[in-house]
Amino acid sequence: MLENMTYNVKSSKAEEFIAHEEILSTLEFANKNKNNAEMIKGIIEKAKKLKGLDHREASVLLACEIPELNQEVFALAEQIKKDFYGNRIVLFAPLYLSNYCVNGCTYCPYHAKNKHIPRLKMTQEQIRKEVIALQDMGHKRLAIELGEDPVNNPIEYVLESIKTIYDIKHKNGAIRRVNVNIAATTVENYRKLHEAGIGTYILFQETYNKENYESLHPTGPKHNYAYHTEAMDRAMEGGIDDVGLGVLFGLSTYQYEFAGLLMHAEHLEAKFGVGPHTISFPRIKHADDIDPNAFDNAISDEIFAKIIACTRVCVPYTGMIISTRESKECREKVIHYGISQISGGSKTSVGGYAEPEADNESEQFDVSDKRTLDEVVRWLMEIGYIPSFCTACYRAGRTGDRFMDFCKSRQILNYCHPNALMTLKEFLQDYASPETKKVGEELIKREISRVTSPKIREVCEQNLQKIEEGSRDFRF
Ligand code: SAM
Repeated sequence: MLENMTYNVKSSKAEEFIAHEEILSTLEFANKNKNNAEMIKGIIEKAKKLKGLDHREASVLLACEIPELNQEVFALAEQIKKDFYGNRIVLFAPLYLSNYCVNGCTYCPYHAKNKHIPRLKMTQEQIRKEVIALQDMGHKRLAIELGEDPVNNPIEYVLESIKTIYDIKHKNGAIRRVNVNIAATTVENYRKLHEAGIGTYILFQETYNKENYESLHPTGPKHNYAYHTEAMDRAMEGGIDDVGLGVLFGLSTYQYEFAGLLMHAEHLEAKFGVGPHTISFPRIKHADDIDPNAFDNAISDEIFAKIIACTRVCVPYTGMIISTRESKECREKVIHYGISQISGGSKTSVGGYAEPEADNESEQFDVSDKRTLDEVVRWLMEIGYIPSFCTACYRAGRTGDRFMDFCKSRQILNYCHPNALMTLKEFLQDYASPETKKVGEELIKREISRVTSPKIREVCEQNLQKIEEGSRDFRF
């Protein structure tokens, strides 16, 4: 293995744990070995032990040009997904609270210089209406999204909004987990978010390439590469142990981003003993004054699928997310290679669930998959998955390393699987169309027999019956 002076996985400095030279030498190493069958077979064998791969090994797999070995990686990714996550897919929706933003991100229509989009910030009453509309669709898990603006969107607004969301009790609905995607902030603010009971703190790196990062974020606080890249360390110091990484594919070369992403995951594991809870896979989309063709590093669906499969085999215990930025066709193609969470029925405008915006003027990006949540749920079942609205781990305190240990101990069939069936049953009772309900009831009958512990199976069957009779919110 090549070494270099600045790279230090445990360092607190962004430029040392995401060392540019280390990425360049990793990419050179990967390129040199992209047809080295013996080395690649060795890496695949190592991946089969399910302990993960480092960024160098991972980059060789991503670069591999030998078709049979690429097929092996895809098959292994599918297998790992089945072993650790089973056939469940967790559903969530984004909720945009405010698009006020002081940053200058060149790929985002919320950039401060965009003077013609309406700037909107929901009041607590508007949030209530939106959340009730989301509950009426069947959602139990939200990701709140805001632009960065210390005056319009201070942390107090975020905290008040989280409280509003958790407090809403409407019919049988409840938002049981609020994930938060806000700009990099201080340890003190992360502590406040932790105390407010958030699920995952999500922050996309956008790009790991510092030079590109600085030119893509020419103005505003987000310009500071180190402050942004070190945000997850501060979040962990503030007590948040579920953090979600992601890059916006299209901003720099995908090989660079992939190596950087894995180095970031290795850093969190080395420094805090727990890797990222999730990794998201967004690609740049058209939006208002943003033309994705203006960015040189767009990736094809084939490469996108390969990145997803390679990520799955490198970090077997990390949840993987794709959003409605991707079309139904694309989602259907990549979901098998390791995706564990998807959004459904999403709006990316501020508001828009309770009263849809006629021309989506405040949208952050165009949504490709425009199906309703009911349609997404039925589609998942038809392609062999169990749609899950489960939020049990976080509510039972299974976060951070406790979640990772749980996942590694393969208790998923005894916990997550029945939890998925019970939350799906709630959805079928309360929100599904008759057609979806029919498909779902048949699926639950088939899947209940796969719960391995007889005791848990029996309790699950009793709970399913109780849900039919009107009770809610059971979990293991
Ligand atoms: N303002 C916060 C921040 O700076 O991290 C929250 C993020 S924003 C609401 C959510 C994410 O959307 C961004 O991190 C970015 O990756 C993504 N995004 C921005 N513009 C996009 C576009 N045109 N197409 C697809 N995704 C985009």
